Parts: sequence; C-alpha cells; structure tokens
Amino acid sequence: MSLNTASDRALVRNVVIVGGGTSGWMCAAAIARMAPPGLTVTLVESEEIGTIGVGEATIPTLIEFNRFLGLNENDVLRYCGGTFKLGIEFVDWLGAGERYFHPFGLFGRDTPEFAFHQLWLRLKAMSENGAAPADTAGRIHDYNLCSVAAARGRFSPPSMESDTILSTMRHAYHFDANLYGQLLRGYAEQKNVRRVEGKVVDVARDPELGLIRSVSLSDGRAIAGDLFIDCSGFRSLLIGDALGSDFIDWSHYLPCDRALAFPTARIGSAVPFTRATADRAGWRWQIPLQQRSGNGYVYASDFIDEQEALRQLLDSAEGTPLADPRPLRFRTGHRRVFWEKNCIAIGLAGGFIEPLESTSIHLAQVGIQRLINLWPGRGVNAAEVAHYNRAMRMDYERIRDFIVLHYHAAQRSDSEFWRYVGNMEIPDTLASRLDMFRANGRIIPDPEDLFTEHSWLAVMLGQGIKPRNYDALVSRIPERALIYNMRQLKDAVEKTAMSLPTHQDYIDRHCAVR
Ligand code: FAD
Repeated sequence: MSLNTASDRALVRNVVIVGGGTSGWMCAAAIARMAPPGLTVTLVESEEIGTIGVGEATIPTLIEFNRFLGLNENDVLRYCGGTFKLGIEFVDWLGAGERYFHPFGLFGRDTPEFAFHQLWLRLKAMSENGAAPADTAGRIHDYNLCSVAAARGRFSPPSMESDTILSTMRHAYHFDANLYGQLLRGYAEQKNVRRVEGKVVDVARDPELGLIRSVSLSDGRAIAGDLFIDCSGFRSLLIGDALGSDFIDWSHYLPCDRALAFPTARIGSAVPFTRATADRAGWRWQIPLQQRSGNGYVYASDFIDEQEALRQLLDSAEGTPLADPRPLRFRTGHRRVFWEKNCIAIGLAGGFIEPLESTSIHLAQVGIQRLINLWPGRGVNAAEVAHYNRAMRMDYERIRDFIVLHYHAAQRSDSEFWRYVGNMEIPDTLASRLDMFRANGRIIPDPEDLFTEHSWLAVMLGQGIKPRNYDALVSRIPERALIYNMRQLKDAVEKTAMSLPTHQDYIDRHCAVR
C-alpha cells in the first residue's frame, strides 16, 4: 500500500457512503454530527435492492451512540416501536426444559481483592458440604438485578447513585431496525447529508494509487469522493468486490448459515428480554416489540434442510403470523481488512457474527466510533489504518469466542448438529479461558472485551460449567459473615426488583407508540 504519498494526504472533503441500511444511516448520522466545516456527506442507496430488514435486538452500548447523537431514548423507542431488553433467556441449551439468563447488569459487587462470584462459589461449596443450609447460596442470578427484574417482568433504567442496587442495572432495546435507520436518516438529512437514490454498478479507482475515486450508478451518474464508506451489506461492493479484501470464514466454529424470520401478533405484555431457544440444528429467537413479536430460526444448512427448519419454526411459534417467513443466508466471519486505502467497511460489508448475542449493530457502532477517533481529515495514515484493522479484528475474535462458548458448552447430544459443536475444535483463546474458569473460577477481565467478566460468568455457569475450586483468598472471610452478607444482598436485590414498575407500565408511561 502506498498510503503516504502527497496525494493521499489530501484533505478529506467529500465522503461517500454506499448503502442505506442501519449501518449506512448510523454512519451518516454520526459523521454529520461531528462534521468539520466544509465536509460534504453523500449516501447512495437502492430502494430496489432494499435492506436486510432484520436486527431487532441490541446491546447496552447503543445507549452511548444515541447519547452521542443527542437522541432521547424514550423518543427513539416510541418511533421504533421498541421495548427494553435486560438480557437473553436461553432455553433448552442444557437439555429440554432447562433455562438460564444472560443479564446485562452486574452480579453483586466486586471487591479490590476478588470478584463477587468467588464469594458465591464458596457459599455454594458450603451449602453442598453442609457448612451452610442447603438453599443458602441459591443461584448466582439471584444476585443480579437485571436477572431478577426480568424474571418478574419489571423494568427501570439504572440509578445514577453509585451505591444503590439500581445502579447495577444495564439495559438495551428491542426495536424495528428499519425504523431506527429511518429515524437516523431524518437526523442526517437535517444535518445536510445528501441522499442519492441509485444502484452502484461500477467503482472507478486511481490507476496509480488504487484509491477509489468514484462510484457509477446504473443511470450513468458518477459520484466522486475522497473517502468511501462501504455499508453495502453482505454484497461488500467496495471493500470486497472492488478492493479484494478476502473473507475470513469462521463457519467451522459457527456453522449456522441460514435464517428464517417472520413477525407474529404479540400475546400478552412485552417481556423485557430476548428468548433464544436451542433447536435441532441451531436456535430460535423471540423478540418482543410494542406492536408485534419478531421470530426466527438460525440454523446450519449442513444439518437440516429449509423445509424441516420451516416446520420447526412454525410449530413452535406463538401468536398469529403477520407475514410469511423470509429466508436469509449468511456466513460468519469478516473481511481480512476493514479499512483499505480510502475505503472503510462498516456493518455487514465488513463482517458478520451470527446474531445469538445481538452484536452486529454494535460492531457497526464500534467501527464508526473508531473511524471518528481516527478521522483521516488530513489524509489517510498507514499506521492508523493498521491500528484500525487490528482493533476491529480483535473485537470480532473476542465476540466469536463468546458465541462459540454457547454452542460448545451446550450439553446436548441429541442431534448431529449438537454433537458436532460439542466436539469441534475451539479457538485457543477460548480454550484457555475455559481452563482457567474450570480450575479456580477465574475470569480475567479484559478491558477491551465487549463482554465483561459478568457476561462470561453468566454464560459459563448458565451452561453448566462448574469450577473445581474457588479463589483461596475468599476462605479468610468468616463463614457467618459470608452467609449473613450474601443473604442481605439477595433480599435487597429481590426487594429492589419488586419496587420497579412492570415493563409494560414503564413503556405505557414513557414511550408507547401513539
Ligand atoms: P443492509 O441492511 O443489507 O444494507 C445494505 C444497503 O446497501 C442497503 O441500503 C442496500 O440498498 C444498499 N446496497 C447494496 N448494494 C447496492 C448497490 N449496488 N447500489 C446501491 N446500494 C446498494 N444485528 C443486531 O444487532 N441484532 C440482531 O438481533 C440481529 N439479528 C439478525 C438476524 C439475522 C438472521 C441476520 C442475518 C442479521 C441480524 N443482525 C442483527 C444484523 C443486522 O441485520 C445488520 O447488522 C444491520 O441491519 C445492518 O445491516 P447493514 O446496514 O450493514 O446492511
């Protein structure tokens, strides 16, 4: 790459975004929000091609993005028919009828010496060896407000007072991602982003430097720019087709490659969580929105055909179908480089990790945040590009490991699919995390990891992985003090949960669709 030539260092004045799905409009809104004087932003999208049209569950980081744009969360949810999400309920992953919850919030309170769950592990050991009454420890989820509130159908945003139980709450949203894209489109157009309707059919590059100079539309127009953002979805028109960044395929770790998605009429009040139910060759989602429920089956086509997947999905669906199931195809993995020359891929154009933990919109968001932090206003810098690519790759790898954990640790062997994922080779990084947890229950926090030690804990324990020991330091806490303090905490979490409004009441009062 010859990035440091004089012409590469030319000021970026014209940004062209190709694609107007959720990623394209997130990108347009964020760039418009911070645009230096004189920057023009043009977004090209094709109504004929349309957007992928799924992506209803988010994670808490989106709150920061909305704040950055100055959007009020209740206004966003009212516009997008959204509900609140406190985590994901996993059903049948350990066998029929078994369930656990991956909450967003924190488990108890860590101390400077050890993580909270070490206290619980010791209490559990005491309950098992008779040193404490049998039910004293309970489930670790009893010490997590999101988990208890979700089970009771309650919701409130976190308190800002740091020493309260309510400050440990974390939330995200379920919403109609198309409407979210439209909301951001209005925001971006108000800030002078120019939208061009058209189908990109060709990409013109500088013969010497290889930089993208313009994209051509089917009607013959050409749109020139200094910086191009590829938000063209799975088509990956710029970074993949034009610049040739190849695809790192993770199907051997995450073999699901198809989905069927359809909406149903909602039954009863909206629950504040996503449900992910393991099925014969993948898993099914249920996502409550204000005016409907989203349903889908993510499955591996090597292990089940579409007809059978459709039958399983329809048999299990609750509520009247509002449309026919729509088939989708995907591959888990990412482009080798996300940023090449004067082109950055954001969203599906850069990669995709199957939606088990709803991380895709988040990955678009971090791509945008990083791009803004490294904004190439004075031209593209090779070291910054290398940093961007390394950081994005690591984000993808860390999330991949977390998703692989769910499949690999699931205790099912009742189909070829589950036998495959239970026995497949896993990334070394995940294997070493599992070894450490199995030995002394340790989860080493990684400040760069999207999923904190609380998330890893929820899923590892939830999937039935039992540490052989707890941290020896915890032994110096007197038994009676441990029992007393843990009981107090469990009661306080329950009381706090029950003091919150129901999720439906909260929506009705603050953000109901009018
Ligand atoms: P797209 O929505 O595909 O947008 C691509 C844009 O490019 C469109 O505007 C299209 O018209 C345009 N385009 C393409 N080619 C051309 C061309 N030649 N000329 C002009 N324009 C063009 N994410 C989550 O965060 N949470 C979830 O719960 C979730 N669930 C998912 C479930 C499934 C089964 C799948 C497959 C994905 C899911 N995702 C989820 C991912 C989510 O859908 C995407 O991350 C999100 O919608 C952003 O997509 P995008 O904007 O990158 O691509």
